[in-house]
Amino acid sequence: MTTHAAAPEAAAAPGRAGRPGRPLERARRALARGLAARARAGSLPTPRVAVIGAVNAMGERQHDQGGSREADGGPGPHEALVHLAPDAVLIGPWQDTAGGATACGACLAIRWQRLRTRSERDALETGLVTVPVGDWPPLPDHTVDAVWALYLRATTGGPAQDAGTRHVTPAHGAAAPRAGRSTAPTPAADPVLPRVTRLDLRTLLVRTVPLLPEPLCPHCAPAVAADTAGDAVPSPLVSRPKPDPGGYRLRRPGDHPLPTEALANPVCGVLGAATWRDVTSPTTAPVAGTVFMRGYAGLTDVTWSGQANSFARSRDLAFLEGMERYAGTHRRDRASMTVDSLANLGDAALDPRTCGLYAPETYAADPMVAPFDPERPIPWVTGYSLRDERPVLVPARLVYYSAGTAADNFVFECSNGCAIGSCTEEAVLHGLLELIERDAFLLGWYGDLPLTEIDLDSCASPAVRAMIARAALQGYDVHVFDNRVDLAVPVVTGLAVRRDDGPGALAFAAGAAFDPEVAVESAVAEILTYIPHLPRQVAERPDELAAMARDYHLVRRLPDHAALFGLPQMKRYAGSYLRPPALRPLGAVYAGWQQRRPGTGDLLDDVRLLRDDLVGAGCDVIVVDQTTPEQRCAGLVTVCTLAPGLLPIDFGWARQRALHLPRLRTAARRAGLRATDLTDAELRRVPHPFP
Ligand SMILES: [Zn+2]
Repeated sequence: MTTHAAAPEAAAAPGRAGRPGRPLERARRALARGLAARARAGSLPTPRVAVIGAVNAMGERQHDQGGSREADGGPGPHEALVHLAPDAVLIGPWQDTAGGATACGACLAIRWQRLRTRSERDALETGLVTVPVGDWPPLPDHTVDAVWALYLRATTGGPAQDAGTRHVTPAHGAAAPRAGRSTAPTPAADPVLPRVTRLDLRTLLVRTVPLLPEPLCPHCAPAVAADTAGDAVPSPLVSRPKPDPGGYRLRRPGDHPLPTEALANPVCGVLGAATWRDVTSPTTAPVAGTVFMRGYAGLTDVTWSGQANSFARSRDLAFLEGMERYAGTHRRDRASMTVDSLANLGDAALDPRTCGLYAPETYAADPMVAPFDPERPIPWVTGYSLRDERPVLVPARLVYYSAGTAADNFVFECSNGCAIGSCTEEAVLHGLLELIERDAFLLGWYGDLPLTEIDLDSCASPAVRAMIARAALQGYDVHVFDNRVDLAVPVVTGLAVRRDDGPGALAFAAGAAFDPEVAVESAVAEILTYIPHLPRQVAERPDELAAMARDYHLVRRLPDHAALFGLPQMKRYAGSYLRPPALRPLGAVYAGWQQRRPGTGDLLDDVRLLRDDLVGAGCDVIVVDQTTPEQRCAGLVTVCTLAPGLLPIDFGWARQRALHLPRLRTAARRAGLRATDLTDAELRRVPHPFP
C-alpha cells in the first residue's frame, strides 16, 4: 500500500505566469522601501512586503518551496503582513483578540486567488505564459502613506500607539496550530476571525474583511506524516433527540453560527465574492453566490443558492448549500490518501462496479473516461458501512466529484448523496433521502412506471397552495406524483405543464421526506425555481435542442436534460405523467407509511429505518465524512452517502449508469407492481428530464 498527498484544488504546473513578474516585483521593492523609511522615522520594526498574484498560490511546488516566493527573494505571503496585488494592497491577517482561529498570508493568497477572474486564474494555474509590460501598479507617496497608516492600525491599534501591542498572526511553520481546529468561534463567528484590510490602488477605498484559515495552507495545516495517513474513521451513529418528533433538522438553517462575512467577501471569501438577491423572480425569493472551482473540464462556475419563500431563509440555505459543495467538490485536507488497487484491497474496499458503470461503447468513444481496472492503483478515502458496522475504503472518485486522477477516470460523479447537517446523523438522513429520491425518479422514468397522481387539493400546506398559485400566474399547471417504487419513504415527483404549449413545455423536480407534505412542498418549490427561466432557456437554443430530440447523444451536459423537455414535442415521451392511472388524496396515498414512520423523537431511529430498507433492497449503506475545518468550527457536518446498487443520477446520454444496473429491471417486481422483471423493450430509452 502506498500513499500520496491530497491533490490541491489546482495542481497545475505553477509559476510560469509569475516568472516574468518584474513590474510587480519592482513595485513591491518600492513599497517595501517606502514603508521601511516610515518605520525608521518612528523607530518601529520594518514591515515585510510580499507579492500575491504573480505565481500560483495553490500549486504543489509553491507548497514545497514555502509559499509564492518571487524568484529574486522577496518574502512569501506567509512571512509578510503587507501583500501587494496588481490592484490592491492587502494588510493582514491581523486580529483584535488573541485566541481565535489563526491564519497566515498564504491562507490569504490561496483564498484571494480563488476569487480571481477566469483568465487570471487560468494564467496563474495552468501555466499560460503572460508577459507583464510597463510599471504596475503605480505607488505614489500618498498611497504608501495610506498603506503605512493601515499597517499601523492593524499591528498596533492605531498610528499613535506603540507597535507590538496588538496580536499579529503570521503563522510560522510547525508552531502554528492546525487550521481552524484550535478554537471554535463563538456564535458571533465573524468577529473573532483574523482580519484583512484591503486598500484599493485605484480608488483608495478601504475595506476590512474576516479571513478563515485555509485547510490546504502548507503553513497553517502541515501535511500529515504518511504513517498517520488517512481520514478520520467515522464512528458508529448515536442517538440524537429531536426538538419534536415530526422535525428532521435539529437546528433551523439560520441557527448555525456561520461566519457569513468570511464566507462571502470580494477579498478572501471562502465561497465567493458576494451573495446576490434576485428581486425580480416572480416565483421564489432567490439568494445565490458563485465561485469558480477547478474540475475535469477546467474552471467551472459553481453556483450555490437558496430558493425559499423569503430572502432571509434563502440566504441561510444558500450558505449551507455553498458549504456542502465546498466540502464535496474537493477534499479540503492535506492528509494522505490510500492509493492501491481493488485487487490488493479486496474486502476492505467498495467495488465501484457495484455503483454502476457506463456502457462499453461509452468507454470506447469518450476520451474523458476509461474502463475500471481492478488491478490499477487508485486513490481511496475511508468510509463507514452502516450495514456491516465497519470501516470500508471508498474510491475517492465517487466521493469528491470535481477531483480525480487520470488513473480513476472510470466515472463522473456528482453531488448525489452529499448533505450537510448539524450532526452526522442529520447529514446522513438527508444524504440518504437524496439518493432514494433520485433512484425513485430514474426508476419511474426509465422504467416507464405508472405513478399515482396526488390530489393537490388534499394538501393542507398553505405554502403549497401559494406556490401553485404563483405557478399558475406564470402559465403553468402543477401536478405531483407518488414516485415510490419499492422503498417506503415518501418520494414525490412534481411536474409543471405549460398551458399554451409554448417553449418551456415541461418542468420536473422531486422531493423525498419523512413527512409527505414536506416531500410535496420541496418538489413544488423546486419546480418554481425553474419555470421563470425555462421558456427563455428553450427559446435561446431551439435548433440545438431540436437536434438533441433527434439524436440523444447530443444531450451532454446537466442543463441539456431539463431544457430538452422544454420542447413541446418531447411531451409525447411523458405519457405516464400526463395520463396517470389514478388521482388520490395525499392522506390515502401515504396512510401505510404514516403507520410505519417512527415517532420516537430520536433521529437515529429515522436513519435506521432508511438503512434497513436499503439493506433490504440489497444495498450496503456507506458514509464518508467530508466535513471541512471551516464547517467543524460552525458545528456543521457534511457527509457523502453511498448505497451501491441504487440508480445514480447522471447527466449526458452516453453516461447513464442507471440503464445498466440490475435494479432498473428488478425494482418494480420487488415492489409487487408486476410479476416479472422489466425487459429492455419496456424501458423508456429517452434521456431523463431531471433538472
Ligand atoms: Zn496559512
